[in-house]
Amino acid sequence: MCGIFGVWGVKEASSLIYRGLFALQHRGQESAGIVASDGKTLRLHRGMGLVANTFTKDDIGRLKGSSGIGHVRYSTAGLSRIEEAQPLLISCSEGEQIAIAHNGNILNSGNLKGRLEREGSIFQTISDSEVILHRIARAKTRDFISNLISSISLLKGGYSLLFLLKDKMVALRDPFGFRPLSIGKRGKSIFIASETSAFDLVGAKYIRDVEPGEIVIIDKSGLTSIFYVQPSPQEHLTTKSYLIGDYELPYPIRKSYCIFEHIYFARPDSLVFSEGVYSVRKMLGRKLGAENRVSADMVISVPYSGTIAAMGYAEETDMPYELGLVRNNYIGRTFINPEHSMREAGVSIKLNPVVDIIAGKRIVVIDDSIVRGTTSRKIIGMIRRAGAKEIHLRISSPPVRHPCYYGIDTPTEKELIASKKSLSNIRDFIGVDSLEYLSLEGMLSCVKNPRDYCTACFSGDYPIL
Ligand code: AMP
Repeated sequence: MCGIFGVWGVKEASSLIYRGLFALQHRGQESAGIVASDGKTLRLHRGMGLVANTFTKDDIGRLKGSSGIGHVRYSTAGLSRIEEAQPLLISCSEGEQIAIAHNGNILNSGNLKGRLEREGSIFQTISDSEVILHRIARAKTRDFISNLISSISLLKGGYSLLFLLKDKMVALRDPFGFRPLSIGKRGKSIFIASETSAFDLVGAKYIRDVEPGEIVIIDKSGLTSIFYVQPSPQEHLTTKSYLIGDYELPYPIRKSYCIFEHIYFARPDSLVFSEGVYSVRKMLGRKLGAENRVSADMVISVPYSGTIAAMGYAEETDMPYELGLVRNNYIGRTFINPEHSMREAGVSIKLNPVVDIIAGKRIVVIDDSIVRGTTSRKIIGMIRRAGAKEIHLRISSPPVRHPCYYGIDTPTEKELIASKKSLSNIRDFIGVDSLEYLSLEGMLSCVKNPRDYCTACFSGDYPIL
């Protein structure tokens, strides 16, 4: 869970990145940073907290140049401190500066880091992104792209990456394509973003996605692209194997787009994996309605994560949709706060029930997912105290039973309520009259190419471990 944004060939890169990061703020609220290049020097500014609190006008002014990359961070791996804030900027041998911004999670960064440390590398952060930089810095050739390919060849996990050098910007997605990354254009200027809604804020038009296993290089000659993953020329009886650079991967590759981006994480006004998030979310609601109809007076949602699915559910079941919970817009997403205790307190500050709508009524409540169950329990308690006669909770995704290792912050298995409790136990814990989830098949029927998606958090079918 992070957002990345890159700009090439504009008048003032840093002010456009600042805007782009605003559009991606929902992807991480812990820290923000920008590196800009004037063609000679890369300059960095980063800080803890929201984009609006991290940069002053002067900071943006100091970040001179026509290209740059930015990052908003939510820590899936690593500590919450300024050293971990991205982009990371280093100087390699001969003073060459390289900046990196990373969205995703590297499964084997511990091993790779141990190996590098034994060879003498000294790490400033505990983030897995620094491992990639160290591997590039130690690579043998003078060509950045070949060094990059050999450096990522041993990475296992989900990663969408942006690099900035003084003469180029480079974007890439891991061969599975876990995390999104899109390309936008405005005239001759090129933009790269985690989500397309960031293009709207800078007047750029979405062109296409960076494909899984693709490296996109943007420099003075424009945009070029290479695929760094190829099927292995050798015949294998059991699985098709692949090569990255000179390395043969010990596992098969399949497209594994994160379905949770559509369910919860991405903005509804974005396209991710070239599909409209709003439409998918609405379909999830309709499907949920078709699978789990219940007789009630109205449908309400947990705003905003459940709102679009609730509209779909109401349409499908011919029930009125009401705004039964009002949200205070000045509070960030409670979940995005890594401190558990703060998350608990956050719920009642964030949401308040509309008593005259709810009292005495049979209510269907729609939310996108249940993770720990603690937030849902509090929200349902509020609706109950507001006088609801019956509460039927419907969830627009299947039970989350397994942790994500590819960049979504789901807790460990033992904290996931659906991995330890049965449906009726969850229903009783949350305190609803009935509880139903969308089926796995139902969920997959809502996206264009179901086989391209990773469903590990629901199914336990991990594409790579
Ligand atoms: P809980 O009842 O504590 O499991 O919280 C469920 C709420 O958290 C739902 O309303 C979701 O919108 C939200 N949520 C689900 N998954 C995540 C996640 N990985 N990160 C942040 N929030 C999430």
